[in-house]
Amino acid sequence: MNLILDPTVFIILAAVGAIIFAFLQILMAAFAARDATARGMDSPALWALIVLLFPIIGFLVYVFTMPHGVMVPCSRCANPRLSHLSRCPHCGYEETAQ
Ligand SMILES: [Zn+2]
Repeated sequence: MNLILDPTVFIILAAVGAIIFAFLQILMAAFAARDATARGMDSPALWALIVLLFPIIGFLVYVFTMPHGVMVPCSRCANPRLSHLSRCPHCGYEETAQ
């Protein structure tokens, strides 16, 4: 019996690979949704959907099109936000003294 050529080994490997990939896909979509919110983008849910439907291409498009800048913690809710945003996208707190 040759273990390397056994089709069940391939089926098990493919199933494990598919489960790991689906898990990574969900992680990327969750990251895009959270990060898009922190960057004050209009449609975090749409970005999550794009990353979920086109896992690698969608994630790359997101990374290259997202607004770049320094992320700082909000002084009220401590969630990250872009430093140039005057209003926290998480809790709506207006930063005044900056
Ligand atoms: Zn906040």
